Amino acid sequence: MKFNTKTIHGKQQPDLAYGAVMPPIYQTSTYAQSTPGGHKGYEYSRSKNPTRDALENAFASIENGDFGLAFGSGLAAIDAVLKLLKSGDEVICNNDLYGGTYRLFTSVFKNFGITFHFVNMDNPDAIEAYINDDTKLIWVETPTNPMLNIIDIEATATIAKKHNILLAVDNTFATPYLQQPLDLGADIVMHSVTKYIGGHSDLVMGALIVKEKSLAERLYFIQNASGAICGPQDAFLALRGIKTLHVRMQRHCENGKAIALYLASHPKVENVYWPGFESHPNHDIAKKQMKDFGGMISFTTKGNDYNTSIKLIENLKIFTLAESLGGVESLAGHPASMTHASIPKEEREKTGVVDSLIRLSVGIEDEEDLINDLKQALG
Ligand SMILES: *Cc1c(COP(=O)(O)O)cnc(C)c1O
Repeated sequence: MKFNTKTIHGKQQPDLAYGAVMPPIYQTSTYAQSTPGGHKGYEYSRSKNPTRDALENAFASIENGDFGLAFGSGLAAIDAVLKLLKSGDEVICNNDLYGGTYRLFTSVFKNFGITFHFVNMDNPDAIEAYINDDTKLIWVETPTNPMLNIIDIEATATIAKKHNILLAVDNTFATPYLQQPLDLGADIVMHSVTKYIGGHSDLVMGALIVKEKSLAERLYFIQNASGAICGPQDAFLALRGIKTLHVRMQRHCENGKAIALYLASHPKVENVYWPGFESHPNHDIAKKQMKDFGGMISFTTKGNDYNTSIKLIENLKIFTLAESLGGVESLAGHPASMTHASIPKEEREKTGVVDSLIRLSVGIEDEEDLINDLKQALG
């Protein structure tokens, strides 16, 4: 089955009770038993719920994995991966991470004796210098948020395998429509389902997808033991979102390209960060591991002026000023004061998250309307 078919049919079957094509929302915490332990596969909804099962199967299918797990948020999914580790273990991650991931690592898990190394992974060989016997996990986000850097997943997976270290990839920005990290050698794929997979800005959810059974069992144990599951209503909404992922992503990419080119040609724009430009430092890797370049773009205004950027964002009419990304509607954000405010100024400026940086999540509206909106706001 190819990708577009998988988004609709992958590992799905009509509901066993009445043949409902969409799985019912099993809004229940518990299930009747005929005798202690005598049940139909479901005992308690933290452990298992039929609507969540359908969604978790769909996650596995679209990422070419064998097992999917749904969580109450993207961060809850990351939290579950970190709970595979123990005190004394070390993690290597890229140095321009989503702000919430950085906060979880440095303000929560660091307190439990886990060490994090934030590394520029433009050249994956740089990772080797940080590897020792305690290194248990490499955490990669690509494209990165908000600088749109690209990390070579296959090359990173080769290093991880050589040293017997788990490789987890945050695939939120790319989605499996653009890249499938498990096929490139990653062990775990993570999503903030809140973004493109949900796609309609109506839920908060996270996902993990793996191939290996023993790893899936360990993560399932953590999911059930820690309990950060999603509810059945949200599982239904995410499943509905997945069915149009491919058509939405195609339009996100088309509109993204048009806007990246428009911004790059505008005299009031300084730098445009989008992996589709041939001049992007990792363009070749993007071309190798991604099908297209996505709908996320960051840019700075001429002279890197904070006030100009803020005024521009305030003047936008179709782009909504808001946190988050990946929905059908176009959003604009100011990373330094919003998504990345939890990263110290010196740290974020090192990676390019300067005060004038604007991040766009290009939606699936008419391209002309979006460009006209940017034109009037830049004017
Ligand atoms: C939003 C986001 C997360 C966190 O997901 P939540 O669903 O908000 O908890 C993690 N990684 C990336 C790249 C994100 O954009």
